[in-house]
Formats: sequence, C-alpha cells, structure tokens
Amino acid sequence: MTELIKKLSIAETVKYENCKETVKNGLQSFMDVADAIVDIHKGKLYREEYATFAECCQEEFGIGKSRAYQFIEAHEVVENLSTVVDISELNENQVRPLTAVPVEKQGEVFTAATSKAKAEGRTVTGADVKAAVVASRPVPPPPKKNAMPFPLIVDENGIEVPAKLIPLWSRREEVQEMIKAVQDVKLKIKKAKEVNDRLYAGGSIGRAPMDFNDIKGHLDMTIADLKACYTVHVCPACKGETCAYCCGLGITSEYYFKTIPESLHPKAKK
Ligand SMILES: [Zn+2]
Repeated sequence: MTELIKKLSIAETVKYENCKETVKNGLQSFMDVADAIVDIHKGKLYREEYATFAECCQEEFGIGKSRAYQFIEAHEVVENLSTVVDISELNENQVRPLTAVPVEKQGEVFTAATSKAKAEGRTVTGADVKAAVVASRPVPPPPKKNAMPFPLIVDENGIEVPAKLIPLWSRREEVQEMIKAVQDVKLKIKKAKEVNDRLYAGGSIGRAPMDFNDIKGHLDMTIADLKACYTVHVCPACKGETCAYCCGLGITSEYYFKTIPESLHPKAKK
C-alpha cells in the first residue's frame, strides 16, 4: 500500500464521519457497524485524529482493540458467506463461531446450520452455528473392525500364546528377576573369595571355612534350574494344552523345548 497523505480528502472526511456515526449509533445492524469499522481500519481514516486504530476505537466508540478486530474478523466471514446467504439478515452471534473455521469451509458449515434450523421451523441461531462448527471438525477414525482389543502375545517363534496361558506366560519376568538375584549372589561370593574377605572366611573357633567352590556349584545349579522355568515357547507337542514335554504347563523353556522331537518344532519363520 502506498503511503497515505495524513490529511484526509473531503470524500474521506465525509466517509469517516459517517462511519463514526454508524458505529456510535448502535441502532444499526451488526453488518453496518462491521462495515464502518472495516472502512476506518482499511483506509486509516482515523489518521488525522489519532495515532493508531486502537486509540480511535477506544476514544470514539469505547471499545478495545480486540473487540474491534472481532468486527473485522466477522466482516471477513460475512463477505465469505455473501455467495450463500442474504448477509443483510445476519447478526454477530450467527457469524462469530465461523471465525474458527477455515475460510473455504465457512459457507458449508453455515449452510448446514441453517438447514437444520429450517427443518425445525426456526431461523438459525448462534447456537446452531456453534453446533455446526463443532460437527464440522474431523473426528478420529473408528478402530478397525479386525483390530485386536489387546496386543497379540507371541512366543519366540511368533506362535500366539493362548489366552488361558497368559497369566503363566506373564510371570517370565519374575523368573528373570530370580535368576538375576542368584547371579548377583554368585558375583558377590566371587569377589569375597578374591579379596579373601574375613567375614566369609570363617575357619576359626568351630566355624568351618566357607567353601567358595562348593557355593558356586550350588548357585550354578540353581541358575540352571531357574532357567528351565523361564518359558519362551508355546509347547509344540500339545500346542498349549497339556503334555509331559511341557510338564503340563502348555508353555516350555528352551531347556524342555530341546527335549521335544524336532519333527514337532514349529517351522522357522521366513
Ligand atoms: Zn505340552
């Protein structure tokens, strides 16, 4: 926009005075007020009297800048709607909610609101428009019909763990924690041996010395036993029912899995 000469032309002065009258008058329709405010803003008709648009709105009409911009926004909506409705009958309540809608959808949303009101034998209200705005917002797609309600739990070969076995299967973590705990003890005993820790050395006044090697052997066995309880497969022999291979559990550890004939093992996934 080219720089405006500060002094208003006669035509501008007349327009400015008329606009101010319109806004102040208050008896005019919302559209007339919005038109007048847009004219003052667009043409900077306030420029002789005030430094800023905001100052003009405050001094002349007693409205803040944000209220003035509400009129300007609403005016844009109305211009947009001019192709679908008779804008002379619009009021602000019907228009305001549409400022939250993308320009290209405003007409469609307003038409939806008016059709609904018409069907009920009324004129469209601000509440109708608000409802249409909300209804126009995209809704998240419904979950797919085939979607599993819970994530599928599969074993290490990708075989689904039967639902009735999930309570047992989900205790794998518990076994892992126990294995870790025994491994920790083993590590601590090893360290004690390395530094010849007096606390564990014993061997005096009727106390037998701790046999580190013996303890390590016990702990290794315990770890091996616990590992045999750590299930990683749905039993391929009974497919999760009950059989001797899986000790009646329906699921097996790697250890017991190896005792099951290979012909029964699930085929490796490609
Ligand atoms: Zn079995």
